[in-house]
Amino acid sequence: MQYNDPDFGTVTVTVNPRARSIIMRPEVDGLRVTSFRGATLSLIKEAIDKHRTSLLKKQATQKARHHFTEEEKEELRQEAKAYLPRRTAELAYMWGFEYESVKIQSSRTRWGSCSASSSINYSFYLMSVPEHLIDYVILHELCHTKHHDHSPAFWAEMNRVTDGTAKQLRQELRKYHTE
Ligand SMILES: [Zn+2]
Repeated sequence: MQYNDPDFGTVTVTVNPRARSIIMRPEVDGLRVTSFRGATLSLIKEAIDKHRTSLLKKQATQKARHHFTEEEKEELRQEAKAYLPRRTAELAYMWGFEYESVKIQSSRTRWGSCSASSSINYSFYLMSVPEHLIDYVILHELCHTKHHDHSPAFWAEMNRVTDGTAKQLRQELRKYHTE
C-alpha cells in the first residue's frame, strides 16, 4: 500500500507477518514502512508522527549522501583541502595540541582518523555536516594525539575542549552516518 506524505514523499507500507512492530526506514524519495499484520493505517500514521522529526533528519542525511555527483564530490574535496588543515591548525593552537600532518581522503565510513604518529586523516565528506560538528571531529582527532583510544581519559580531554558537550556532539554526529 502506498500514500503520499507532504514531508517524506511516497510512504510504502508492507506487511510482514513476522514483524512485531512498525519499522520505518527513510529513503531518498520516501519512507518504507514494514508493519505487523492487522495494523491499521491510522496506527501506522501515528507511529510515523511520533518519530517524524528524527525520521526527517535521517532522510535529509540520505538525500545529502546519495545526491553527490562527481562534480559535487570534487567541490567537497577542494573545500576540505582549503578548510580542514587550516581549522585543525587553529583548534590545535587554541587548545594546545601537536600533530604531524593533515591529509584529506574519500572514506565514506569514517569522518577522520589519527595514526600513532599523530598524522590526521579526514574524509572530504566531513564538509557536508554542520560546522560545529566539523569542529567536533577535528577536536576528536586532536585528542587522539594525546590518547590513542576512547578511554575515560580521552573523553575527559574531549569534554575539556567542548565545554562538557562531547557525548552530546557525538550523538548529533551519528545522525549523519549511513545506517
Ligand atoms: Zn576516535
